[in-house]
Amino acid sequence: MIKIKNLYKSFGDKEVLKGINLDIEDSTVTTIIGASGSGKSTLLRTINLLEKCDDGKIFLDGYEITGENPNLEKIRLKIGMVFQNFNLFPNKSVIENITLAPIKVKGEDEKSAKENAIALLKSMGLEDKVYSYPNSLSGGQKQRVAIARALANKPEVLLFDEPTSALDPEMVKEVLNVIKFLAKKGLTMIIVTHEMGFAREISDNIVFMKNGIVEDIGDPNYIFYETKNENTKKFLQAVL
Ligand code: ATP
Ligand code: MG
Repeated sequence: MIKIKNLYKSFGDKEVLKGINLDIEDSTVTTIIGASGSGKSTLLRTINLLEKCDDGKIFLDGYEITGENPNLEKIRLKIGMVFQNFNLFPNKSVIENITLAPIKVKGEDEKSAKENAIALLKSMGLEDKVYSYPNSLSGGQKQRVAIARALANKPEVLLFDEPTSALDPEMVKEVLNVIKFLAKKGLTMIIVTHEMGFAREISDNIVFMKNGIVEDIGDPNYIFYETKNENTKKFLQAVL
């Protein structure tokens, strides 16, 4: 489980996160929605320690990960991240992309890392792309490889920052289906998304962020139909 306690983050004199409190239970899907600039990506990046918070604490399974000199490599194996623009290594094949961290960081032996990577690719319908290079793949295929790469580290939590917003419409579904499949398997996920239908379908909890705070939070039924929060209602009216 992830516990976020009173998290603050500024860039220069711009306060972006203003005291975030959030609990993420194991095997749940939390989606984060909110207007552009509300701090969604910054929150994810802070959880993954790509950004250092200014104040507050983050705990993973009871251990603080925001202390002095955190073991970044180790923590990022446990908290994986999938980016909007895939961030695959362009000069490495699909299987090299996936096995790099398990071999180099986790010290897995090459044979089992490769077997695991191939099994993951099969489960995503990419068994014919094992030795391809990223530039020969479609956007949807690249994103599925990026998800396989994150899963190869056997993370406890997977963070997604708008995983489908760089994709052509016909490829959105194949990526969302993979995420739905992972949700069914009980993977803990935090997903920033503008896909409201998807958020409604997949979320245990939806977090509505506004100006760096958690403005509203609840299950899909609450957020979409029951909330009395005027800002949530206004946001949803504008995007739906
Ligand atoms: P979007 O929906 O557009 O992705 P977001 O909710 O993810 O928006 P963030 O990317 O977290 O928003 O940005 C929040 C604010 O912080 C914005 O005003 C942004 O300009 C600012 N910001 C983010 N990263 C940096 C940075 N590295 N340096 C300076 N300002 C930043
Ligand atoms: Mg963002």
